[in-house]
Amino acid sequence: MRIESKTIVAVANKPRYVDVSNPSLSVQCPNCGLRTQRFLDHCRNCGYKLWPSSELASAAFKAWRDADPSRAETTRYDLDVPEDTAGPEVDYAARAHQLGIHIFPSSNYPFTICVGALFLGLAAVPVPGPVRIAFLVIGLLIFLIGLVGWVLVEDVRMFPTDGSSASGEAHH
Ligand SMILES: [Zn+2]
Repeated sequence: MRIESKTIVAVANKPRYVDVSNPSLSVQCPNCGLRTQRFLDHCRNCGYKLWPSSELASAAFKAWRDADPSRAETTRYDLDVPEDTAGPEVDYAARAHQLGIHIFPSSNYPFTICVGALFLGLAAVPVPGPVRIAFLVIGLLIFLIGLVGWVLVEDVRMFPTDGSSASGEAHH
């Protein structure tokens, strides 16, 4: 008889009736009808006893939390499972413009510049004949196209010179 009663107590301490598939951290209080923490033993709004004991509520919470890795960051005091905390998305280009920091636009022109530099490098190889001159001309041409495209076309398009403020300052 004694052993039997001990077994009953041990079983009663286990959170047997936790629906771990329910992702909610909050529950509607059966007494006041307001939303409250699911794994606190009392309703936060009216004090209605939701769990037989705080220990049982805690054990139930741990079982619920360990059932899903995305719940690892939650506490019993949360009403909602926090959203994926990948961090806020920042538009660094817009931020830099706002702060007055000049960053070069992301561009394919540096690649063009490198191709031009390659031909200029080939032109530096001392081989006789007009090949070096051809390499020099081609290299300079590609290099300049890349440079002009990057610095004068794309960069100006991205950061247009604010003429109004410049003339405004001149009047002061
Ligand atoms: Zn309540």
